[in-house]
Amino acid sequence: MPENSRPEKIWALILAAGRGSRLAAAIGGLSKQFLCWRGVPLYWHAARTMSRSAVVDGVVFVFPPEHCAAEEETLHARDDLGLPWLTTAGGALRQDSVRLGLAALPRETRYVLVHDAARPFLGPALTRRICEALRRGASAVVPGLPVTDTIKLVDNGLVTATLPRARLAAVQTPQGFDLNLLRQAHRHAQEAGLTVTDDAALMEAQGHDVHIVPGEAANVKITNPEDLALLAGGQTMPRPCTGMGYDVHRYGPGRPLKLGGVPIPDGPEVVAHSDGDVLLHALMDALLGCAGLGDIGRHFPDNQARFEGISSAILLDQVLEMLYGAGVTLCHADLTIVAQTPRLSPFREEIRKNVARLLGLDKAHVNLKATTEEGLGFTGRAEGIKAYAVVSALTGAAPSFSASIPSPDL
Ligand code: MG
Repeated sequence: MPENSRPEKIWALILAAGRGSRLAAAIGGLSKQFLCWRGVPLYWHAARTMSRSAVVDGVVFVFPPEHCAAEEETLHARDDLGLPWLTTAGGALRQDSVRLGLAALPRETRYVLVHDAARPFLGPALTRRICEALRRGASAVVPGLPVTDTIKLVDNGLVTATLPRARLAAVQTPQGFDLNLLRQAHRHAQEAGLTVTDDAALMEAQGHDVHIVPGEAANVKITNPEDLALLAGGQTMPRPCTGMGYDVHRYGPGRPLKLGGVPIPDGPEVVAHSDGDVLLHALMDALLGCAGLGDIGRHFPDNQARFEGISSAILLDQVLEMLYGAGVTLCHADLTIVAQTPRLSPFREEIRKNVARLLGLDKAHVNLKATTEEGLGFTGRAEGIKAYAVVSALTGAAPSFSASIPSPDL
């Protein structure tokens, strides 16, 4: 059933209101849910996973009251969750934050998933497992893993009992609930002054069955300073990226043919607003592709007088500046020119060397091919020329997601 036609909506609460005192000292007083990992705060990862699961209809983020306005602004600027979302201010205890989050849910919500922002590694399959169990009629569903350690009850430094390991489960979030029943359970807990560490315990106290589905070993909670090692890889590892570019120019009265910044004497002229260097145009589009920055038409529109007749080498330089600004380091370019005429082999090495120079790359990392299309199509009829470029690069440290929150020094 399409997502928006499901009658009974499932929303998720992402709890990001805690102070994380066990970790705060290790990360300069920052609350762990605001740690920047892979370019976005920890709390954003679980929300993305919920969105990818295709079974969650919306998300409520619960933040510390003093962070609420700033985070809401950042989320609006980001605007890439693909789900409706709201923010609300949390309370002193986790339990208070859940109660306040439940109060913020839209009226049509039937089921709710309660998730800790400090568990960024959950997978969409786990989210789906919980939602399916709710839709099959369960009132409360928690993910659990078998316990591998032997667990003892301890009193005053003395073991008083050994618990039967086969009957124990280590329970994670997200935990899924029938919303009305969870609201009632929270009301009762507030009246009775009952304090618990997860919502399932409140449902147990009300006599509701709590069902267990298999949890995920990777779905750990970032709790202690040593857990930061789990984030270190994503924080520092450069990631490869690839860009592809393509361009065509028609032969006709206009600009003398230039390829990769190299004039081709006696070649046909090309129709163009700029200098018509088809190879550098394809290359610039590939570079912009690496950085997710659109295409050259967006940056250098061909209806603007200031780009008339401009050397493409100047435009390329501006594109490279944009790439550096985006933290992208260029590695390699593979280029192909397709033309029936002129013959390009006499110029190939010079073009290759010039492109390497313009890119600031070793010549070994620029490859240039020239081919015909065997007399077929518009290049075959010598009506024009085309070029393809594929560029690989590394993205370094991602730009900070929120200027208001310093990126921790891990
Ligand atoms: Mg062009």
